[in-house]
Amino acid sequence: MEVAEKIKDVRRAVKAARDKGKTIGLVPTMGALHAGHMLLIERAVKKTDYLVVSIFVNPTQFGPGEDFDKYPRPFEADLEKCRKWGVELVFAPKPYRMYPRENLTWVNVERLTEPLCGKFRPGHFRAVTTVCAKLFNIVQPDIAFFGQKDAQQAVVIKRMVEDLNLPLEIDICPTVREPDGLAVSSRNKYLSTQQRKDAVYLYKSLQRAGEMLEAGEKNTRKIISEMQNILSRVPFLEVQYINLVDAQTLEEPEQLKGEILVAIAAKLGPARLIDNILIDLDKT
Ligand code: AMP
Repeated sequence: MEVAEKIKDVRRAVKAARDKGKTIGLVPTMGALHAGHMLLIERAVKKTDYLVVSIFVNPTQFGPGEDFDKYPRPFEADLEKCRKWGVELVFAPKPYRMYPRENLTWVNVERLTEPLCGKFRPGHFRAVTTVCAKLFNIVQPDIAFFGQKDAQQAVVIKRMVEDLNLPLEIDICPTVREPDGLAVSSRNKYLSTQQRKDAVYLYKSLQRAGEMLEAGEKNTRKIISEMQNILSRVPFLEVQYINLVDAQTLEEPEQLKGEILVAIAAKLGPARLIDNILIDLDKT
């Protein structure tokens, strides 16, 4: 496995693979690799011949007061995992290599970035789409792999690729969960033992919403109030949003139909947690 810090080394390594007729996969990450990343990597190894994993804690996508400085960076352990999981190239640039000077060019996906996390993290998605566009241009993958865990990000990236005719496919992998149902996340490390136990209520509330939708409940307010009930059992949980939206447009539909994304974000102590489920009402 090769580890590259410089953009030109990535281009050289990828070109060599492409010259041999290999297809290129990319899994963009911020490191602190866990079972969620592993699923993306496993899928990428199956679907492409030469896999690039980027490890980059992108400073521009963190707002003031967010966790950029304390975000875990267990770099050597990450490299060990990548070796074990069959990655060919790790691209781990320092911020100055991605942003050698003030960045003046941004990719902004309108409308889809406004609701849900967009309301609470101004500028976040613009930074995510921009860094992903840069990574796509540096690596030029055939397929890039993202997780459904970050549902809004998945919708936004797909739309950017379509709107800009970027020559790659976006593959969305299902959310990997701990045995109790909590979505695996690097930020779960911030939780105390008690908070870690309580965090599962996010998923419990989503499950309840799923049950209600599958049983034919069409009243959004009823579903949300049931979820709030479940979440009210957790002391000090600060819910930022609970929304039922159309899975493609991310808009709140007048009538629940088609594919519905139930999405939640909440702060629990030092951690901001997000989770979601997708329910296809045409299939219930
Ligand atoms: P991150 O390192 O948190 O930026 O995540 C890198 C990629 O892994 C993103 O596409 C995430 O959506 C995805 N990911 C993170 N956690 C999970 C999870 N529990 N299940 C599936 N994918 C995940």
